[in-house]
Amino acid sequence: MPAHILVVGGGIGGLATALALSRGHHRVDVFEQAAAFGEIGAGIQIGPNVTRRLHQLGLAEGLEAIAACPEALVVRSAGSGSELARLPLGDAMRQRYGAPYLCVHRADLHSLLLEAVRAQGTGTLVTDARIAQVETSDDLVCVSSSGARAWEGEALVCADGLWSVARQQLEVPSAAEPPRITGHTAWRGLAAQAALPQALRRQRVDVWLGPRLHVVAYPVRGGDWLNVVVIAESAPAGDARDWDQASSLDALQKATGRSGSGVQALLEAVPGWRAWTLSDRPPLASAAEMAHGRVALVGDAAHPMVPYLAQGAGMAIEDATALAEALGKGGAAEVPAAFAHYAEARWQRNALVQARARRNGRVFHATGAARLGRDLAMRTLGARLLDQRWLYGG
Ligand SMILES: Cc1cc2nc3c(=O)[nH]c(=O)nc-3n(C[C@H](O)[C@H](O)[C@H](O)COP(=O)(O)OP(=O)(O)OC[C@H]3O[C@@H](n4cnc5c(N)ncnc54)[C@H](O)[C@@H]3O)c2cc1C
Repeated sequence: MPAHILVVGGGIGGLATALALSRGHHRVDVFEQAAAFGEIGAGIQIGPNVTRRLHQLGLAEGLEAIAACPEALVVRSAGSGSELARLPLGDAMRQRYGAPYLCVHRADLHSLLLEAVRAQGTGTLVTDARIAQVETSDDLVCVSSSGARAWEGEALVCADGLWSVARQQLEVPSAAEPPRITGHTAWRGLAAQAALPQALRRQRVDVWLGPRLHVVAYPVRGGDWLNVVVIAESAPAGDARDWDQASSLDALQKATGRSGSGVQALLEAVPGWRAWTLSDRPPLASAAEMAHGRVALVGDAAHPMVPYLAQGAGMAIEDATALAEALGKGGAAEVPAAFAHYAEARWQRNALVQARARRNGRVFHATGAARLGRDLAMRTLGARLLDQRWLYGG
């Protein structure tokens, strides 16, 4: 008999998990603290390792309808605007990895997952349910909300993000430690491509590297919108728990100074800015940090990372499909062994992605001689340096 699974958190990781498990005919109830299921207004890039998993979840057509398929990734110097390296994406990625490299609006991907979970119809979606307490026994798990409501199931998946309450169930010393606030801030904005001057419109991923900062721009929503992100080593903008702080170009440029002319024109054309304080955790050190007994963690609850490899949501989606594969058609009795197998299968890859993301931050933001060395390596190795076979093919 399929298991009855409680999923805490209805973000991209929680919904991908609910979808993957309900396709295996498990009963899955999702608990989201917000009054409605939703996502903030920003883009994410999803590499072929992730689109492949979304295709497995039956979302190939839906994804095609909402995504932009950028033609290339181009890395430039933020000061001079000169090109350092280029990686063809588009058909090149499909041929190389059997799945596309896409850019999506978070809300569009979230809606796609939500509709697919609803269509499965194998559980309930509960909003206004901020889970404050978790109790587990040999056979059961019980979650209770701050509103004094309680629910019981046979397994618990914690997908409650960076500030996970549920991860405190793990029997590892780091479970109760708060995330590390990195001192880096991301400013992000969206612009309708039709409202931009022709020279600023683009259907590729552009990255500009500057001392202690970088800027990324890529199309979303079928290419109609441009997502722009500036990440700088600057004092946290505000409440570290708030992913969506109001900000402005003035505030951004007080922290970063003005950019080279090409980037500056783009930043000035973006109609509004939101700020996001970046936090992470050290790379996972063992499988015990991803599961214990009837409790498993997915996504940022387990392995929050800086976004310098553009894979945080990607790893949450990989976790989701791996968890469902580990459980298969197993019932309540199989849950602890399946969750242990899941954690064993996932922790090293997640740890590597966390570590590589941190390393990318140091490379992207390099100054002085390190920056000159980086630029030379990029100019010499080009696509070979940008392509990540271990990641996209994994
Ligand atoms: C600037 C920036 C750019 C990024 N770009 C990319 C990218 O290009 N590609 C990529 O793959 N990733 C990217 N990421 C990373 C990505 O955003 C995260 O890794 C991803 O959102 C994690 O998803 P999640 O579902 O695990 O957690 P979250 O998205 O944090 O979802 C957690 C959910 O749980 C809910 N919740 C929390 N606590 C409770 C509770 N106690 N009870 C009930 N519900 C609760 C929350 O309301 C939320 O809905 C980026 C991140 C940043 C900051």
